[in-house]
Amino acid sequence: MFSPRRVVVLGSTGSIGESAAKVARALPDQMKIVGISGYHNLPRLIELTQEFRPSAISTKEKTDADLLIESCATTSPAPLVVHGEEGLLTLATLPEAELIVIAIVGITGLKPALAALKAGKNLAIASKEILVMAGHEVMTTAQRYKRQVLPIDSEHNALFQCLEGRDPVTVRRLILTCSGGPFRKAEASHLAHVTPSMALRHPTWNMGSKITIDSATLFNKGLEMIEAHHLFGFPMEKIDVVIHPESIIHSMVEFVDGSLLAQMSRNDMMLPIQSAITYPQRIAGPCAPLNLAEIGALHFEKPRHDLFPALQLAREAGTRGGTMPAILNAANEKAVELFLEEKISFPSIWNYVATVMQQLPSIPTPTLEEIIEADHAARNAVLQLYKRG
Ligand code: MG
Repeated sequence: MFSPRRVVVLGSTGSIGESAAKVARALPDQMKIVGISGYHNLPRLIELTQEFRPSAISTKEKTDADLLIESCATTSPAPLVVHGEEGLLTLATLPEAELIVIAIVGITGLKPALAALKAGKNLAIASKEILVMAGHEVMTTAQRYKRQVLPIDSEHNALFQCLEGRDPVTVRRLILTCSGGPFRKAEASHLAHVTPSMALRHPTWNMGSKITIDSATLFNKGLEMIEAHHLFGFPMEKIDVVIHPESIIHSMVEFVDGSLLAQMSRNDMMLPIQSAITYPQRIAGPCAPLNLAEIGALHFEKPRHDLFPALQLAREAGTRGGTMPAILNAANEKAVELFLEEKISFPSIWNYVATVMQQLPSIPTPTLEEIIEADHAARNAVLQLYKRG
């Protein structure tokens, strides 16, 4: 019998957090939410609290924590309400939790992730930044404490499923699939005129604005290459990308004998989340099966590296290692912010990232502090480039 896995969801009001809530709603015998954190959507956090009755909740601000305590006045037993960075650490190490879902955008999830591993919890990671920036640290900590890091990005979950039980020496390549974004067929001259609202229309996935822009520039896929490198321990040159507009195959593994194993399913984040929550079991859940006859055809294309340099920049950053992936990630985040504010053009996103990667040195085996410093330095370098025009 499978007793419900006791799960903390950090980032419960975001799109991954909401998908995790759907899984918990659909599979109450498999998943019990014991802790949730939210960032700036207090009304939603209160609703989730009332629905799932977690024993601990964390907010960003103390004022929100106070409002949440008020809203739980008649709840018995009253939940533990904490806030800020300390609050996230409290949730990540909550005694009754077995698995911590890290679905906070950005680096905020890193310290909670490391604390969770050290406290004996398994991780299900959706925030790619923490693996991109500190993948080495996260994976060595997981090994040291004999804990699992389960990916809930659809691509990495697919690779995880295809690689399970396979000898790594039999693997020739990991192939990440990529929808290609809304400008897959665009002319080079068109890209300079792309506005935020054009870039925010993603063909297959409905996600937050930062990740949607990353899908349009292909930086999302670049970050995922680095993430795969850390999660599965393969060198960057063994990690490839193919454009697959239907997003039915979520990724593939090519073996030395020429076999290609692919994981296919509908475009629904509930499946990778369910798969991580119930791992190593495979159980019936809310996701409908694929009807391939209805889909009819699947298409594949080479990425257009000339138009979208993000993949090559990510390959370079991952190969150089050290703080370079953190520099790429932070420079991209800052540039996307400027683009969304309509301060810089769409191609400036990758031009800024490329320039900052040349400007800043990479520290080979960085401490966490050095990684954070590199992140700040890269953001600052982007801002300086923008100010200089
Ligand atoms: Mg993905």
